[in-house]
Amino acid sequence: LTTDDVALAIDIGGTKLAAALVDATGRVLRRSSLPTGQQARLALGGPADVLGAVEVLARSMAAAADRMPLGIGIASAGPVDITGGRVTPVNIPDLHGRPLVDHLRGVLPDVPVTLVGDGLAAAAGEHWAGAGRGHDNLVAVVVSTGVGGGLILDGRLHYGSSGNAGHTGHAPVAIDGDPCPCGARGCPEAYASGPALLAWARSHGWDAPDTATGADLAAAARTGDPIATRAFKRAGDALGTMSAAIAATCDVSAIVFGGGVAASGETLLDPIRRSFAAHAALGFVASCRIVPLALGGDICLIGAAALVHRPEQYTSDRFHGSRVLTTRA
Ligand SMILES: [Zn+2]
Repeated sequence: LTTDDVALAIDIGGTKLAAALVDATGRVLRRSSLPTGQQARLALGGPADVLGAVEVLARSMAAAADRMPLGIGIASAGPVDITGGRVTPVNIPDLHGRPLVDHLRGVLPDVPVTLVGDGLAAAAGEHWAGAGRGHDNLVAVVVSTGVGGGLILDGRLHYGSSGNAGHTGHAPVAIDGDPCPCGARGCPEAYASGPALLAWARSHGWDAPDTATGADLAAAARTGDPIATRAFKRAGDALGTMSAAIAATCDVSAIVFGGGVAASGETLLDPIRRSFAAHAALGFVASCRIVPLALGGDICLIGAAALVHRPEQYTSDRFHGSRVLTTRA
C-alpha cells in the first residue's frame, strides 16, 4: 500500500465502528466500517461482540498494510478511562468493563496502543490536518447525538485532571435551564443535540413522521419551516453562548464545529455566529473565529492517527506513559 509509516486508527461510536490506515500527513489510505451492536453481529455472521468486531476491523487493516503499523490509535465515545484502557459509552453497554486496549495489544503484539476520547480526538484531528491548522489555541465541538469536544492549548491536546477536558456540551449556559441527560440543567447538549432538537420541535408542533431525523429538521429549517427554524435558533443560541464562554476562558483563536447536526452547515452555524457576536464583547473574545470542520466523517479516525504520528503534541505522558513516544528506528 505504501512504504511510509502508517497509523492504524480505530473509531468507536454509538452507531458505527470504523478503522483506517492513515499516513503521516493525515491522509486516509484505506478504511472499513461496521455498524455497532446487533447489526455488527449479523454482519460478521456469528456471535462476535463489539470487541470482536473491533478486532476484525483492526486485523483487516493490518493485513492491508505493507508493513507493521507504527501504532494503533483508538478514539472512543466516552467516558474513557485512558490509564485503565477501558471505555464506558452509554450507547455501547457491550464494551463496559471490557479490556479494550489490552485486547488490541494482543492483536498486534509490540505495536503501541493509544486510547483517547472522541472529543479530544476531534480536536487533535482538526488541529493536525483540518480547519484548526495554524491555530495553537482552539476548541473543536462535535454536535451530534450529544455535544462533545476537545481543546488544543499552546499547540498541545489538553487532557485535564481526568483526561476528559473539553466536554463543552456540559458547560451550562442557562440558569435553571432545560434538563440534560447528564443530570444537570442548562447544558448546551440539552438544546443542541440531535435528540434535543427533535424533541423540542415535536413538542412545539413540528409535524413529521416518527422516523424523522435531525437532517430532516435541518431541511425543514432551510425551506423556512418556522418551528424548525426556531429549534435551530435555540440550539445556535446555546452553542453561541457556550462559544463566548469558552473563548473568554481559554483565549482560543478558533472554535471548530462538526458532527451530524453541525453537518447542516449554515442552518446551525449562522445562529451560532449571531449568538456568539451578541455575547462576545471583549476584543480578544470577539476575534475568535467560528468555523466548520474540514475532516467530515473521518475526523475521529484522523484524530486517533494524530496520537500515533505526533505523540509529542497529542498524547499525555501522565495518561499514556512514555511508551507511546518510542518510534521505529
Ligand atoms: Zn449536561
